[in-house]
Amino acid sequence: MQSDAFPTVASIDWDVVDALKYEDEGRAVAALLDAEPLAPDAEAVRSEAADLVRAARRIARRQGVVESFLQEFGLSTPEGLALMCLAEALLRTPDEATRDALIAEKISSADWAAHLGRSDSLFVNAGAWGLMLTGRLVEPDEGARQDLAGFLRRLAGRVGEPVIRRAIAAAIGVMGDQFVLGRTIGAALARAARNSFVCSFDMLGEGARTFADAERYERSYLHAIGAVGAASRGAGPEAGHGISVKLSALHPRYEAAKAARVSAELYPRLLRIAEAAAAADINLTVDAEEADRLVLSLQLLERLSREPSLEGWSGLGLAVQAYQKRGPAVIDKVAELARASGRRLMVRLVKGAYWDAEIKRSQIGGYDDYPVFTTKAATDVAYLVCAERLIGHSPELCGQFATHNAYTLAAVRRLAERAGAPCERQRLHGMGEALHAAASARWSDFPLRVYAPVGSHEDLLPYLVRRLLENGANTSFVHVLLDDSIPPDLVAGDPIAALRVAPARHPRIPRPREILLPERCAAAGIDLSIASERGRLVSAAAMLDSAGLPPTPPDASPERIDRAFAAAAWAQRSWDGAGGIERGRLLRKVADAIEAELPRLVALLAREAGKTLADGVGEVREAADFCRFYAAIAERDMAGPSPLPGPAGERNWLQLHGRGVFVAISPWNFPLSIFTGQVAAALAAGDAVLAKPAEQTPRIAAEAVGLFHAAGLDPTLLALTPGGGETVGEALVRHPRCDGVAFTGGTDTAFAINRALAARDGPIVPFIAETGGLNAMFVDTTALKEQVVDDAILSAFGSAGQRCSALRLLIVPAETADELIATLAGAMEALVVGDPADPATDVGPVIDRAAWDALEAHVERLEREARIVRRLNAPEGLFFAPTLAEIPDAGFLTREVFGPILHVLRYPPGGLAAAARTLARARYGLTLGIHSRLDGFAEEIRRLVPVGNTYVNRSIIGAVVGEQPFGGEGLSGTGPKAGGPYALTRFTVERTLSVNTAAQGGDPALFDL
Ligand SMILES: Cc1cc2nc3c(=O)[nH]c(=O)nc-3n(C[C@H](O)[C@H](O)[C@H](O)COP(=O)(O)OP(=O)(O)OC[C@H]3O[C@@H](n4cnc5c(N)ncnc54)[C@H](O)[C@@H]3O)c2cc1C
Repeated sequence: MQSDAFPTVASIDWDVVDALKYEDEGRAVAALLDAEPLAPDAEAVRSEAADLVRAARRIARRQGVVESFLQEFGLSTPEGLALMCLAEALLRTPDEATRDALIAEKISSADWAAHLGRSDSLFVNAGAWGLMLTGRLVEPDEGARQDLAGFLRRLAGRVGEPVIRRAIAAAIGVMGDQFVLGRTIGAALARAARNSFVCSFDMLGEGARTFADAERYERSYLHAIGAVGAASRGAGPEAGHGISVKLSALHPRYEAAKAARVSAELYPRLLRIAEAAAAADINLTVDAEEADRLVLSLQLLERLSREPSLEGWSGLGLAVQAYQKRGPAVIDKVAELARASGRRLMVRLVKGAYWDAEIKRSQIGGYDDYPVFTTKAATDVAYLVCAERLIGHSPELCGQFATHNAYTLAAVRRLAERAGAPCERQRLHGMGEALHAAASARWSDFPLRVYAPVGSHEDLLPYLVRRLLENGANTSFVHVLLDDSIPPDLVAGDPIAALRVAPARHPRIPRPREILLPERCAAAGIDLSIASERGRLVSAAAMLDSAGLPPTPPDASPERIDRAFAAAAWAQRSWDGAGGIERGRLLRKVADAIEAELPRLVALLAREAGKTLADGVGEVREAADFCRFYAAIAERDMAGPSPLPGPAGERNWLQLHGRGVFVAISPWNFPLSIFTGQVAAALAAGDAVLAKPAEQTPRIAAEAVGLFHAAGLDPTLLALTPGGGETVGEALVRHPRCDGVAFTGGTDTAFAINRALAARDGPIVPFIAETGGLNAMFVDTTALKEQVVDDAILSAFGSAGQRCSALRLLIVPAETADELIATLAGAMEALVVGDPADPATDVGPVIDRAAWDALEAHVERLEREARIVRRLNAPEGLFFAPTLAEIPDAGFLTREVFGPILHVLRYPPGGLAAAARTLARARYGLTLGIHSRLDGFAEEIRRLVPVGNTYVNRSIIGAVVGEQPFGGEGLSGTGPKAGGPYALTRFTVERTLSVNTAAQGGDPALFDL
């Protein structure tokens, strides 16, 4: 049985919701328009919304902090961006030197003076530093007033002065106060009472990374519920305060593929929180997070709504995002749940806060479409359609409408009034004050609840930046509300009319697989957050298990190698002559065939190479991408001769040709994608190939070769020549008909091949080598701990650390090292080591016993000479327990350790450059990670540690064909980079042709000028 089945008492089929996740946008929009949510009141609503805008503008002259800020610092301005970056990072940065560097860098990167005095808002001016610094703390003289820009520049040079540092921290604090209702729940309740707010309190913070985080959040929610319950004095879920809970705060792995763990470990926490909320008779809303988590959250909600211990409580609720195409379906299903469980549910309707992230995730995943609409008008109309459904399901569902948009608010009010359904409106603390004040003045029976973040400023700021980003967009209502240059009628324009005029998807947001067109389509992916998609892969693995692995292809004998070279050399001439277009066509067919076989290939990768399902999907996609990418280069650069310049009476051309027969030698860690990439590059360039896979993974290679042949490639152009490196590999490389070698693997083998090629008499042939690396990630004190931990865990332990790009050494500042290392160790505890074909597995086995033994020997050295911080348990067999160890100095590692072992090194203040230089002296140069908010830090590390692939504020694995051409320098490889624009040149020879056209009497082209 599959371990990710969700053991609920569910009777609702939530998977229906997932079936609609990537619905065609045209169809989804047509359904929205068919629903005609406001007919016949559209005009009345529009006019009411315009009145609201006028009223809000009058009020906003006194309020409107965020609105003023966004008006002054659009996110498209360098000042807006610099300020956000500073706000997000400054307070968590513990050391003064780095704080100063951050302030200096961000201040000098923008033109603050241009913003001074342009707004009456303290927030804006505090943001601009100017008022704070010039007006109150550093009184400028007359000269400075004449030249404010110069004054601020000089000021930036003095940021080390404590007074300025304090002023800036104070300015950030002013920003923080606008968004946090209180640093503690007690303070927040007191402020709410002073302002007569009814609130839903949110305990701020990043999602849990460790079980300790999850426990801390649970305690904080329970404490808050106690306080809120006492303050509510029996007001009940509708009239009193409530709590909002983010499920990602209650478990470090709140993911669909971990449903069983979520059920066993997260659910009990959630239940305790719900029971406390029920006992206090307050409302509890489950916030909506990423689309991938929707079904999981609905399943948890269903369990809660059937709990006997919550009987009689009507405060349970959830947030539903209208920007998701399946929003209306979710509302209907939740209503079904309310009826089936006999419990009234509260539903907060939001548009959604993760739109850009959803777009990015779908593009990275290569999905058919997006879970969200691509036009703002569609989102706005979807909100109305969802609102109408929600109101229609009253009283089973109680509608709570969260928006800062005047039109949306007026429309919802009209819908509720028409249906006679009681409901409430909601806004975020610090936003939409003016609009909702206008609404309060207009409607006495439309109560308001304020979503009120509670926590420290350090925790707040990433949240604040998120809100500013979301609302600073040009399309955002908050952004335009106060802009007097836009008439109220326009600000409150009717989205239904707009959508009718332009129902198509956004012209600049093509479907995820089409973003690279016309060059090529991106490889199709599989969304593993959908149960049925996971099921496809699990079934493929089960089928393979019952049928057994295909037979191992026999080792290539010397005679077979001779014959293969001879046949390949013969066939290569016409293949080269066929030209790039013809070769591209074939490679595109191979890509399609690879995609069509994805489930089987993923299963084979799991069983022969120990790859997890997610890694397998990534690998299959990369193989397809290689084929299409090289096809596009061949079509562009090798379609025929390219003309070159020359004098009158002469014509010149350059043409690329295949070199002959290439030997491709690939490793076991990417047995499909690197194998296919090498072969596809050689074939695209017009070469024939003899391909030797790693000894451990010949079956996957045989399968890939079969797909090339089935697509129509002459079998003699691609021969599989499996066998040992020292036998078959050596024979291939030394063979007189070998015209070039493409190799990926260990550095020592690369040395051996290099020597073997050098020893040959005859034409000197190219050698393309990609080898290992000693890959490090440098962190400074401005980095966000949670991001560092996510990226370090993925980079070090993903694929069981068996990637050449994997992270081996994490270099962290002494000031934050203890906390970072503790969180890393805690996050490791949540890793699952086991069967790679189980979707819940994070870390599969290592490739063979020899690899396991080498890793174990290294751990023994770590035990003697370093400090093991954490070692997980691993099942018997080839599973190697992920290990975290602190090493004494940067010179400790001299060779790549190929497995799930992460070393961490702390550097003292001022010790960064020494660590970087020591690392660079090892002369590897493959991947490098940098986590910092300081551009200067990133530049310094890049200067000190030259490598092929540098990644800033992200993981260091998963290079994408065409996007991050991959390959190292120094001991890590020769280039050219795989998946890069120059990848094919080493596989080719260049031939020129010059014709003296004047030889026949003159240049007719010249006469025709
Ligand atoms: C009380 C409250 C609670 C909230 N809780 C949650 C929650 O639990 N989960 C959550 O995700 N959000 C939550 N939000 C955030 C909410 O989603 C945002 O505030 C909301 O997106 C802003 O909507 P609006 O109607 O105020 O603004 P508007 O400016 O009218 O709309 C902005 C919305 O349009 C979307 N949009 C922008 N451009 C496009 C485009 N080209 N195509 C499609 N859509 C586009 C944005 O992503 C955003 O969703 C909450 C908000 C409030 C007020």
